[in-house]
Amino acid sequence: MMGKIALAIHGGAGTILRSQMTEELEREYRSELEAALKAGWAVLEKGGPSLEAVEAAVISLEDFPLFNAGRGSVFTSEGKNEMDAALMDGRTLKAGAVAFVRNVRNPIRLAREVMERTGHVLLAGEGANQFAAEVHAEMAPDEYFFTEHRWLQLQDAIAKGRVQLDHFTAETPRRGAGEATAASGSTDIPNSAFRIPHSKGTVGAVACDKNGSLAAATSTGGMTNKKFGRIGDTPLIGAGTYADDLCAVSCTGHGEYFMLGVSAYDVSARMRYKGLSLEDAARETIERLSEIGGEGGLIAVDTHGNVTLPFNSEGMYRGHITGDDNLMVVEIYK
Ligand code: ASP
Repeated sequence: MMGKIALAIHGGAGTILRSQMTEELEREYRSELEAALKAGWAVLEKGGPSLEAVEAAVISLEDFPLFNAGRGSVFTSEGKNEMDAALMDGRTLKAGAVAFVRNVRNPIRLAREVMERTGHVLLAGEGANQFAAEVHAEMAPDEYFFTEHRWLQLQDAIAKGRVQLDHFTAETPRRGAGEATAASGSTDIPNSAFRIPHSKGTVGAVACDKNGSLAAATSTGGMTNKKFGRIGDTPLIGAGTYADDLCAVSCTGHGEYFMLGVSAYDVSARMRYKGLSLEDAARETIERLSEIGGEGGLIAVDTHGNVTLPFNSEGMYRGHITGDDNLMVVEIYK
């Protein structure tokens, strides 16, 4: 029997204000979110697996230069792009992830290779790049990842001695919004030293296919001017990305808190142990995130093709389609 298919995507959460957005930019964001939804939906409509659908949607978002993933990734302190990505197949409970990969055109594809070809879940840094070479992952030169606004963000972050999560308001107003502060240059940065009110740009997708199988995928460029080998929640299974036989979840926001709250897995745990619906479980997870001081949101889907997209930030780039009406919904603000 064919069940209800569903797909949801995000392009990051944070202080996304209408007042900081131009009409043209908003149109660009919306059309890219629609393109990513179409890419994933085409797979599900043909009866394809949820894993293929989330990978297709995330590849589309990685290729779009305005999101902080793949092509639009932010710069590290050394002017490099180092990217993290993860995906998980809820049907098999298999997952693959990469952290700190450079020059890989689509890190989510590499995460898939980790899942398919290694007995491991997460490969990082040099090793992950060696693996990319071994599996002939498509690489791209530094210029491919170079976007002017990301470069300006880095110059600004260096000048101010800051580690920034994604977009930054003051010096790049045309992009709107994104500041985080941390005492860069010190090796002792407690979680509380980060203030990340405007993160946005990480991308993700969750899907339910015709068999009721679920999958989740998330991809990010991390933080501008990042050092110290910082890794966020995105490539950590259970923190930023998770899928099982109850739900599939992809998170975005201040990663440290999603790690501390084990947020992606938390949605599944609340469904399993408390018998909650997807919507109630996800809402409670975001309430918990708020309690521990975190900001951001998540997208989630269950085996009945229900979707929910809660967040506690000003906005979240997001969209979904479900088999209820096959209508594409794309939203940015609260
Ligand atoms: N969660 C990501 C991180 O902390 C960032 C984001 O979602 O914007 O690396």
